[in-house]
Amino acid sequence: MRHNIHPRPSRPQAARVLFAVAGVYLFFAAVPPLRARIEHKPGFNTFTPQQDIELGREAARDAERQMPVVTDAQLSEYVNRLGQNLSRLAPGHRYPYQFKLINAKEINAFALPGGPIYIHTGIITAAASEAQLAGVLAHEICHVALRHSTNQASKAMLAQAPLAILGGVLSGGGLAGQLAQLGIAFGANSVFLKFSRGSEQQSDEQGAQILYDAGYDPRAMAQFFETIERESGGRSLEFLSSHPNPGNRERNILGLISKLGPPRSFTADNIEFEAMKRRVAELRPPDARSRGAAPAGRPQPAEPSRRFRDLNNDWFRIGYPENWQVYGQGTSTVAIVPPEGIIPGNGGSLPTIAYGALISVYEPVREPRRRLTLPAATEQLVRELQKSNPNLRVVNRSAGPRRPDGQETFSVTARGQSPFEGQTELNWITTTFRPEGLWYVVFIAPEGSWNTYDPVFRQMLEAVRFPR
Ligand SMILES: [Zn+2]
Repeated sequence: MRHNIHPRPSRPQAARVLFAVAGVYLFFAAVPPLRARIEHKPGFNTFTPQQDIELGREAARDAERQMPVVTDAQLSEYVNRLGQNLSRLAPGHRYPYQFKLINAKEINAFALPGGPIYIHTGIITAAASEAQLAGVLAHEICHVALRHSTNQASKAMLAQAPLAILGGVLSGGGLAGQLAQLGIAFGANSVFLKFSRGSEQQSDEQGAQILYDAGYDPRAMAQFFETIERESGGRSLEFLSSHPNPGNRERNILGLISKLGPPRSFTADNIEFEAMKRRVAELRPPDARSRGAAPAGRPQPAEPSRRFRDLNNDWFRIGYPENWQVYGQGTSTVAIVPPEGIIPGNGGSLPTIAYGALISVYEPVREPRRRLTLPAATEQLVRELQKSNPNLRVVNRSAGPRRPDGQETFSVTARGQSPFEGQTELNWITTTFRPEGLWYVVFIAPEGSWNTYDPVFRQMLEAVRFPR
C-alpha cells in the first residue's frame, strides 16, 4: 500500500527548516583566506556530522550482511592501520573512520557517511605499491570528510521532497527510517554514493594533500587511476561508475604537486604491502552462501510481539506490538509497522508499506444540502487510495461495530499487489467520522500471512480511542 494523501504542512516546522537552512548559508559565508595548501570544505548540508555517523553505522550493518568482509586478522589489521594513519590527516570533523576489506576481485571501493570505508581485495591485487593503495584510501577518506554523500542527499531532499520535510513527515522512528520514507538510503548501491564529478575532483585534490602529508608520493594516486582506466579497456568498472573521472584526472593531480608543499623524499617501502598482496592471492573465494541473507526475497518481519505499547497522539490513541515502529508521529499520517515492513521508494517515489497499519484523515468532498453517509465517504477514500495503488480491488464492504462513544464505523477489504514478490496483499480499511474529517486506518499484510496478523490488527483497532 502506497499512500500519497499529503499531510498539510504545519507552520512551526516549516519555519524551523527555513531557519536551519539560513543558518547553513550564514555559516559557509565565512570563507577563510586562501592558502597554498589544499583545504576543501564540506558543501551545503542539512544533516549534522553526528547524523552522518548514525546513517553510516546503519548502512554499514546492512552492507556487511550482504558482502563478504575479510576476516584474516593480518590483512584487516594492515588495511585498518594504513587507513587510520591517513585519516588523522583528514580535514574537518573527526569521524570514527573504519577500514575493512571485502573479498571481491572487482576493482571497487566505497565510503559510507560518517566513517565506514570498504576496499575490495581487487584493489590490492591491482595496486603496484602501498602508495597506490594509500591513494585509494585517502580518496575515500575525503568523501567522508567532505560529506559528499549527505551533501548530495541534502540537495535531493530540497529538490524532491520539500513538501514532505515541511509537512513534518520527518518525525518519529530512527533517522534512517525517516529518510527511507523519502526514498533516501545510503546502502552500498545507493545513488548518494555515486559521486558527482565535482566531488570527485575535490576528493582527488584533498586526497593528494593527505598522501603528501603522510609521506607518500601523491603521484601514486594519479598512477593508480590511470592503471584502472587502462585496465577497464572501455568496460565500465564499478569503481569508475561510482567515482567518475572528473576529466583529465591524472593531469589535474600532477598539476597540484607544487601546491601541496615543498619537495620532499617519499617512502618507497613496499615490503609489508607485498606480503599482504600474497595473502590476498591466497584468500579462498567468498562462500556463495554467505553473500546476501535472503537473495531470493526480502527478509520477513519478525512475529508481532504480544506485548503492546501505547501511542498517544493529540487526535487518537492506539496500541501496537512493541517490536513495531511508529513513523510520522505528530503529523496527520502515521505508519505503525514492523521495521522490515516498510520498503523505501526509489529516487523520490513513495515508500510502500507491506505490513502494518497506516492511519490518517481524509477530507471527503461534500455536496451542498446532502448528508454525506459514512459508506459514501469511505468510497471516496478508496478511490483516492486507488490512485496510488491501481491494483487495489474491493472484495468486501460492511458496517463495522459502533465505537464506545456510539459513533458508527465502516469497513472495506481490498486486495492489492504486495511488494513481496508474487504475493497478493489484503488491505483492511476502517473509517469513522471525526471533527477533522474521515479518520481511517488501513491494516496491511500479504494474504498468505493474514491469519498471523489479523488478531494483532483487531487488538489494535479495539484499542483505538479519540479525545472528546
Ligand atoms: Zn570518489
